[in-house]
Amino acid sequence: MAKYKLEYIWLDGYKPVASLRSKTQIKEFASFPKLEELPLWGFDGSSTQQAEGRSSDCVLKPVAVYPDSTRKNGALVMCEVMMPDGKTPHISNSRATIVDDADTWFGFEQEYFLYQDGRPLGFPEGGYPAPQGPYYTGVGYKNVGDVARQIVEEHLDLCLDAGINHEGINAEVAKGQWEFQIFGKGSKKAADEVWVARYILLRLCEKYQIDVEFHCKPILGAYQQALDWNGSGMHANFSTKFMREVGGKDYFEKLMAAFSKYCAEHIAVYGPDNHLRLTGLHETQSIDKFSYGLADRGASVRVPHSFVNAGYKGYLEDRRPNSAGNPYEIASRILKTIQTVPTA
Ligand code: ADP
Ligand code: MN
Ligand code: MN
Ligand code: MN
Ligand code: MN
Repeated sequence: MAKYKLEYIWLDGYKPVASLRSKTQIKEFASFPKLEELPLWGFDGSSTQQAEGRSSDCVLKPVAVYPDSTRKNGALVMCEVMMPDGKTPHISNSRATIVDDADTWFGFEQEYFLYQDGRPLGFPEGGYPAPQGPYYTGVGYKNVGDVARQIVEEHLDLCLDAGINHEGINAEVAKGQWEFQIFGKGSKKAADEVWVARYILLRLCEKYQIDVEFHCKPILGAYQQALDWNGSGMHANFSTKFMREVGGKDYFEKLMAAFSKYCAEHIAVYGPDNHLRLTGLHETQSIDKFSYGLADRGASVRVPHSFVNAGYKGYLEDRRPNSAGNPYEIASRILKTIQTVPTA
């Protein structure tokens, strides 16, 4: 038997988007615990905007477990927040709103900024770095610095150790901006992994005294006026079994008509302050317009060449979700819209 450090992770009740919370409990297991072996736990919801003071117990229900290679006998335990009965999802429990389908695949491209002393990492105090251009997929100290590379590499290793299905990482368009991509078969699985990867990144950056800025347009005001800086997205690539195996132009057009019809409902869960980012500039469509286009990075939905070449089969990229969006809500909404379109 060994004593395991179980880090129970959950989403709080803050609006417009939840933040990550966690606490540790120690339990003995013969080997790395399986999900079924992990007990329910609780926390004080009055401190997380999830309960009134008088009856403040909320329940944590483990839904996924990952090895935590930063700690001896460590495990990261992703949880859903439940009511005291342990069965009813709490109102803040966005994961429970996903009507899952293991055959739906999601790939999230999480962009973010590393921040230090109130500005993006690599921005000189009181000034600006050279304009955008060399940073995207860049190399060299003047383009990516040194600490940033160290952090993203360490983050990648920790996520791979945890079994998170990273598909890649890259330096992004603005200085101090990075991206990682996570792909999952099953929307809950993909979204869980995005939240846990965010958790690992935030915790890793503590020791560097660096913050992770998930806001979609953190560089505003003087910095933004002096030189035009990109915002951060979380493009959602998705495919259902039907899209991959049957598809067709007719179905595709009906699907896009449904996306157009529910444009406002999508934007409502695609992350806070998205009007600052979806301006029609910087490879985005305006927030109030819906469009799709072949390989078009200025459209709401980009249709990959591979999709058209295969006879309108494969995956599509919704470019509107932003970096601070909740992947549970995003996946849930995309699935809802897909389900309005008949496949026969
Ligand atoms: P780009 O930056 O050009 O938009 P990325 O490589 O960053 O492209 O992201 C593409 C994403 O598409 C990846 O996260 C990948 O996992 C995802 N993806 C690829 N195939 C599928 C598929 N069949 N269903 C859902 N997502 C997919
Ligand atoms: Mn990308
Ligand atoms: Mn990107
Ligand atoms: Mn981008
Ligand atoms: Mn993309």
